[in-house]
Amino acid sequence: MAPALKNRSAPREGSRRTTMPLGDKHPKKDVETALKRAEKAGLKVTRKQNRHNWGAVLCCPCNDSFTVHCTPQNPGREAKKIDGFTNNHRGHA
Ligand SMILES: [Zn+2]
Repeated sequence: MAPALKNRSAPREGSRRTTMPLGDKHPKKDVETALKRAEKAGLKVTRKQNRHNWGAVLCCPCNDSFTVHCTPQNPGREAKKIDGFTNNHRGHA
């Protein structure tokens, strides 16, 4: 009778475990700062959140990317890997 009500954004079923806010910041501070460094170096940080991945760091000229995990087991190491990718592609864009 009121089809418009169907368009309200309801929480997806089966994803109630995920209480992480869908902001555009990475929940792990180490990773977030590494992503900031990547952006500063001219790389593109994209959010394409799904079950395991938070997003990716892209180097468009190289067509290369690094997948960023939502909840890395070791945030420090994840951040270092992002830094490594950043250093590899610094100044490409
Ligand atoms: Zn590159």
